[in-house]
Amino acid sequence: MMSEFQLIEQYFQRPPRPAGPVRLGVGDDCALLHLPAGETLAVSTDMLVEGRHFFADADPHALGHKTLAVNLSDLAAIGARPLGFTLALSLPSADAEWLQAFSTGLLALADAHQIELIGGDTTRGPLNLCVTALGSVPENAAIRRSGARPGDELWVSGSLGDAKLALTALLGEISLAADQLSLAAARLHRPTPRNALGLALRGIATAAIDISDGLLGDLGHILTQSGTGAVIQTDQLPVGLALSRREPEQRRTFALNGGDDYELCFCASPSQHDAVLHAGRQAHTAVTRIGHLRAEPGIQLLDANGQTLTITNQSFDHFTA
Ligand code: ADP
Ligand code: MG
Repeated sequence: MMSEFQLIEQYFQRPPRPAGPVRLGVGDDCALLHLPAGETLAVSTDMLVEGRHFFADADPHALGHKTLAVNLSDLAAIGARPLGFTLALSLPSADAEWLQAFSTGLLALADAHQIELIGGDTTRGPLNLCVTALGSVPENAAIRRSGARPGDELWVSGSLGDAKLALTALLGEISLAADQLSLAAARLHRPTPRNALGLALRGIATAAIDISDGLLGDLGHILTQSGTGAVIQTDQLPVGLALSRREPEQRRTFALNGGDDYELCFCASPSQHDAVLHAGRQAHTAVTRIGHLRAEPGIQLLDANGQTLTITNQSFDHFTA
């Protein structure tokens, strides 16, 4: 039987990166991080619970990826540069095969972003994965939810709705050809956090959020905190590759209400239009203008002919769902 400390050492402890911000990593009572002068610490926590956020038989490598990806996505949304992360892990048993795959998926994404796992906690219990991601951002450069202004252009990165399409198919609510399901499921199981874009949007975006619960709901948070409303041209929504083959009604509702996209929704002054396009190119990430902000509260949805559409906000909420 593997002990708690053998488990940590074997799967989660690695030699520190020489030039990174970590002064002390896994193995002591606290980790120590060096924060560059003039920068503030950005902190975000996200928890994944079996049966809530993933199926009991979820592929552990993909789960490791997603556990970190959803947290990096929060750092991206506020324009913070990732520094490191902690992992609080509750496990039913020390299953070596599962731990090997999970930690490999997790640490591969950490390597891709050149950040380290700096500590955590490990207990026995129902499968529960909780990461706290730490990042740094110059004091006045953070892209908050509250900075959007009427007249700003409204943008999203990448594409929307494929994760929702995959989830709906996996729940048996719709049927999807195998090749389409695997295309869509990649978006559900292995989201790509948009950190390069978040950094490139510093000084350009007035507000941003990452889309985890659905565009309408998450945009709603920007609008509430900024005291503005928005108009979305639904024909401009960048829908996922698999979703783009479905009928228009489903395309629209899944792009607007699908969760688990982990794209950025952000606002910027029209004077920054070219700067946004440049940021997208710099980050190798597609950016699409989908509408604009207005003073009148609420979200108005327009079709290709400029007619108003009514689609209810069905974004996900753990306590009302
Ligand atoms: P303490 O009892 O002082 O809180 P622990 O005995 O829980 O410390 O953990 C020992 C060390 O291993 C600490 O440095 C802690 O941060 C780290 N650690 C525990 N669990 C994990 C994990 N799942 N991933 C990475 N580091 C971990
Ligand atoms: Mg502990």
